[in-house]
Amino acid sequence: MIPVNEPYIGEKEIEYVNEAIKTGWISSEGKFIKAFEERFAGYIGRKYAIAVNNGTNALILALKAMDLPAGSEVIIPSFTIISCALACIYNNLIPVFIDSEKETWNMDVFKIEGKITEKTKAIMPVHIYGHPVDMDAVFKIAKRHNLFIIEDFAEAIGSEYKGRRCGSFGDISCVSFYANKAITTGEGGICLTDDSRIAERLKRLRNLAFVPEKRFIHYELGFNFRMTNIQAAIGLAQVERIEEHVKRKVVIGKRYTMILKELEEKELIRLPVEKEWAKNTYWMYGIVLNSSSGFDAESAMKMLSEKGIQTRPFFYPMHLQPAFRSFSWFKEEDLPVSEKLYNYGFYLPSGLTLSEDNIRKVAGALKEIL
Ligand SMILES: *Cc1c(COP(=O)(O)O)cnc(C)c1O
Repeated sequence: MIPVNEPYIGEKEIEYVNEAIKTGWISSEGKFIKAFEERFAGYIGRKYAIAVNNGTNALILALKAMDLPAGSEVIIPSFTIISCALACIYNNLIPVFIDSEKETWNMDVFKIEGKITEKTKAIMPVHIYGHPVDMDAVFKIAKRHNLFIIEDFAEAIGSEYKGRRCGSFGDISCVSFYANKAITTGEGGICLTDDSRIAERLKRLRNLAFVPEKRFIHYELGFNFRMTNIQAAIGLAQVERIEEHVKRKVVIGKRYTMILKELEEKELIRLPVEKEWAKNTYWMYGIVLNSSSGFDAESAMKMLSEKGIQTRPFFYPMHLQPAFRSFSWFKEEDLPVSEKLYNYGFYLPSGLTLSEDNIRKVAGALKEIL
């Protein structure tokens, strides 16, 4: 089976983890945390980094730090991971779902303003599968309506919008270091910001809202979202190689596009795009079948699996999630692009360890089927 994704773990990871363990610094203090935070913030081009125990909690922490009144609305894409919606709900905020744009699969920026009410307080752009959101459009809307921006760049480490790295936008940006991301800490995440006050708040909230002056006196409700020094040891080794990881992702993406172009020309599938203002890092190489191909995602994935190729379905849109049906604020919605993406889209093996030979095998199998 050609796996859909495998992390790349090198010798440095083992060396640093050994050091963390041998020195006894195995909880959330120790030199690797600060070193990892600084190195990663430097790569993205942000002033402050606050490492946490996973990407979902990075989003929860970021929205908590914004101090929005209960019942405020947050604009998010429908086509994303459930973490984005949960981060709203666990902060007593209401996620408002935006349909996808057909080419990049990102939230359609032209559909945002129609959903803004006096309760809207923030926008959460999510760069899906490595392609950046049109951030100028998001900034314009945010400015006009006085909204915060929480950027989720978990799938766009190394991606760029108009020459600027994803993760450098908005009030706070959040990332995940789950094993399938461009760099990993096993489980982990980070919040980035350029605002020292927000950074202090994030640090306090991450650590049970302890304050340094008065131990065990708490002025607000915090979380334990601390990253361990062991995770950060893996992370430091990974971030030291981050340019190579990103380059490899881009090479894999461009190879697939080269080989699969003819299927797109025959109008059987749609491939990922790279807008002229974007650098796509192809976190996952997604394809969308045309209905004229005679297949939907499920049937094509099954046939690929029979040929020894692992794939993954696209996101199931948030507005259709059974888990949200019981919420009184949940409105029946019709977001056809995101629904179509789910029905016809899936992604191919895209891991850092994928060989040239396997890329050809995967693309070849897809051509045979179609
Ligand atoms: C992976 C991912 C997350 C969640 O990260 P975890 O570390 O698994 O909690 C959040 N947002 C996006 C866009 C992701 O791809």
